[in-house]
Amino acid sequence: MEKLAIDGGRKAIAGTLPTFRDASGRSLGAEEIGQLTEVIQSGSLSFLSGTKTAEFERRFAEVYGAKIAVAVSSGTAALHAAVTYLNPEPGDEILVSPITDMGSVIPILAQLAVPVFVDVDPLTQNMDPAKIEASITPRTKAILVTHIYGNPADMDAIMAIADRHDLFVIEDCAQAHLATYKGRLCGTIGHLGCFSFQQSKHMTTGDGGMVIANEDHRFGRELRQCPDKGWPRTKGGRDHLFLAPNYHMTELQAAVGIAQLAKLRKMVDARRRSAFQLTAHLEGSKARPVKILPDTTGTFFFYTFRLDSAEIRVSTADFVKALVAEGIDCFLGYPGKVPLYRYPVIQDAATFGTSGFPYTLPGVNDSAGRRQPVCPQAERACTETVCIWWNECFTEVHIEQIATAVRKVFAAYAA
Ligand SMILES: *Cc1c(COP(=O)(O)O)cnc(C)c1O
Repeated sequence: MEKLAIDGGRKAIAGTLPTFRDASGRSLGAEEIGQLTEVIQSGSLSFLSGTKTAEFERRFAEVYGAKIAVAVSSGTAALHAAVTYLNPEPGDEILVSPITDMGSVIPILAQLAVPVFVDVDPLTQNMDPAKIEASITPRTKAILVTHIYGNPADMDAIMAIADRHDLFVIEDCAQAHLATYKGRLCGTIGHLGCFSFQQSKHMTTGDGGMVIANEDHRFGRELRQCPDKGWPRTKGGRDHLFLAPNYHMTELQAAVGIAQLAKLRKMVDARRRSAFQLTAHLEGSKARPVKILPDTTGTFFFYTFRLDSAEIRVSTADFVKALVAEGIDCFLGYPGKVPLYRYPVIQDAATFGTSGFPYTLPGVNDSAGRRQPVCPQAERACTETVCIWWNECFTEVHIEQIATAVRKVFAAYAA
């Protein structure tokens, strides 16, 4: 048996793999530079005087067949615009998965609504539709669905529940650009779709985000005003109709976004192709890929597989340390070793001064929101899931190296 790199043996991956962290793993080039040069030469870095933000929104809406697209400064900003649009009463509840980025939850708390965590399906790690209805109360206003790892959640089941209970549905597509569910693009099935263009996402503007919808007003609010200080700019003059932040995307981000969007299909296809290659290489091994629902296309934000503690003779954490030592860019558990509700912002209600809002607001059931979220499947997933940072620039050779490294560690640590 080959000596593991962690024990001083030779690394399975000799060089370094392409990474989203630098030019080795990002498709940034002449197109982005050309777009950026136009913006700099125009002298307009703001959407108010420039043209790139409007163009990026138009093109993004076209790709998605959406009526409206609103560019914003991050994925969190996109989701915050969505929750601002929903205009919940303080203490209203929004259902959310415990396995997602904290950027899905911050906007709920920022609007004084209560995130109520619904456990995940152990196979897909997306919100489990079978567990949603038990969490619905008269205060539930919306379901915020993340398509985790780029794998579509079970939208038919979720939309049926939402219809039955008159709930608004926000899709968090920050990891799921161009993912499809039964032939429909994720982000167009619920009422609003939210995207991130942060450095690690399928396409990037450094930071950035987008909200798409087939409606532009509801709940007494215009969607476009939600990341724009509640300002109805089309009517001329200055007015502020409701409390809303400024989350404008700059023309510089939009310029890069236009160029990146033109490459998005190619970049996503490359991720999918190499992920399927790895799955084929790992056939028969003990790596159990996280399930992707039939009749959907996942877009592999991460390549994820599950470890069965009974099949390895080290801890899952040590197993992942060995993978990293072999040269794989991976980690254990998403968003981390524990689900979101275990982070201090929620556990300690570290929110608004010492108030503990929204958890301490009158009529709020703190148990449902914070004290006793019982999501055993999410807890397990966080300690058993290997997340490999996936990349559009992986070649067949890279995939063979990754597969060799995974097999090597399984062989060394077999129970
Ligand atoms: C990245 C991400 C966000 C937040 O996006 P930012 O651009 O980092 O603010 C939200 N949800 C999910 C699922 C994400 O992956």
